Amino acid sequence: MTSVTIRQTKQQIQQLTNTESASKLPSFWLTDWLLYVIDKPALFLITDESYELTEDEQKQFNAGVTKMQQGMPLAYLTGQQAFWSLNFMVNEHTLIPRPDTEILIEQVLDWINTPSIYASTKRLLDLGTGSGCIAISLAHELKNDNWQVVAVDLSPAALKVAQHNALINEVANIKFIQSSWYDALRTHEKVSFDVIVSNPPYIDEEDEHLAQLKAEPISALSALNHGLADIEHIIQQAPSYLRIGGLLAIEHGFDQGFAVRQLFADNGFESVTTVQDYGGNDRVTLGHI
Ligand code: GLN
Repeated sequence: MTSVTIRQTKQQIQQLTNTESASKLPSFWLTDWLLYVIDKPALFLITDESYELTEDEQKQFNAGVTKMQQGMPLAYLTGQQAFWSLNFMVNEHTLIPRPDTEILIEQVLDWINTPSIYASTKRLLDLGTGSGCIAISLAHELKNDNWQVVAVDLSPAALKVAQHNALINEVANIKFIQSSWYDALRTHEKVSFDVIVSNPPYIDEEDEHLAQLKAEPISALSALNHGLADIEHIIQQAPSYLRIGGLLAIEHGFDQGFAVRQLFADNGFESVTTVQDYGGNDRVTLGHI
């Protein structure tokens, strides 16, 4: 194999991202992939342009590029995704954490940090935890505040990933349970949570956007009833599990804000507000019971 330098690989990346084809890859995916393969910090691509990739590195880089061109997201190639201030392991059993979901974390922390909760031990429930990014980021922020976190998911494979993520991020105060939404929670967990959070599947089954998300588990992405079926179930059951004054915070689609606020109101929630994501779209609705 002829030797290939960083300089040449950067040119290759430029060509790949300049193509007009529909399968055009984001250039940061390619540079991040290169950095992952050569295991170097970003600055290396500027300071060490004449570094020659080993044969193995060349092969790994090219094989990864082919996989990305075939639809595999970068996060599944590297097996990791940054979210909040933490790093999460991900695989094909979990949704890849999105920056927009950080809005959910910010909003919940804002609410928790207002002095409205007086219970000595405070409890938070994350429904459909996936990689665990929401439960773990919140538990990490609340580490010293006597919070207990319960995180559920239907998929045992996702729970394995979430448990691993709790371990690598050194978060111990989370109990993981295999459950379809609230189903496996014990009776004594009724009326026991101060906060319920969820990023459930909410994409309409007919939505064309799903075609771009083929690598991720469909059960984490799409729901019946125009994407609202799981959201509706979560909202309807939430009052049975929340303490008086407790908060429900749900991520949803950009065009579901009105319907979700209506569901909150119909189920007795107050101060219902929708918060927008970084793109200015409705993304998270919150209310307290
Ligand atoms: N926000 C994600 C997307 O549209 C979907 C996440 C979800 O369905 N919960 O890419």
